[in-house]
This record gives sequence, C-alpha cells and structure tokens, in this order.
Amino acid sequence: MSNKVYRGEKIEVYFDAEKCSHSGVCVKGMPQVFDLKKRPWVNTDGASADEIAAHIEKCPSGALSYKRLDSSSSSSH
Ligand code: SF4
Repeated sequence: MSNKVYRGEKIEVYFDAEKCSHSGVCVKGMPQVFDLKKRPWVNTDGASADEIAAHIEKCPSGALSYKRLDSSSSSSH
C-alpha cells in the first residue's frame, strides 16, 4: 500500500500511486489543486471541498479518494 494523505481544512485527499493510470484527468481538469510539479502535489486549499470532491469522482482508476471533514451534507442553516 502506498496511500498518501493530503489533509486540508475541510477535506482529506488520499492518493494510491499503484492504482494511478496516469490519465491526467486530475491535473488537466483542476491544475490549481493537482500539480505534479509542486510538493505536495495536491493543494487541498486550491478549490472548495465540494469542487475537489466532485473532481476526485472523475479519476478513472480510483487512485484518488477523499473524506469530507466538514459535515456539509446534514446542516440546513
Ligand atoms: S485522475 Fe486518477 S488515474 Fe488519472 S492521473 Fe490523476 S490520480 Fe492518476
């Protein structure tokens, strides 16, 4: 297992390099968050947690996953 964790304020992003198929979907679609030239290459402050979560859903290999640290789904105020 080679899971890396990138922790932000509202979202935690996991990356499993062994699963990555290098499709480039993440870096092309959201370069302000996923930038392979930077260390760490995932900038969890580069977009809102909602945007990052939605983009991670597009990763074709399942290498990227996430956990929401805010409880945005339940609150209604
Ligand atoms: S979208 Fe997923 S499979 Fe494609 S490069 Fe990014 S992490 Fe790898």
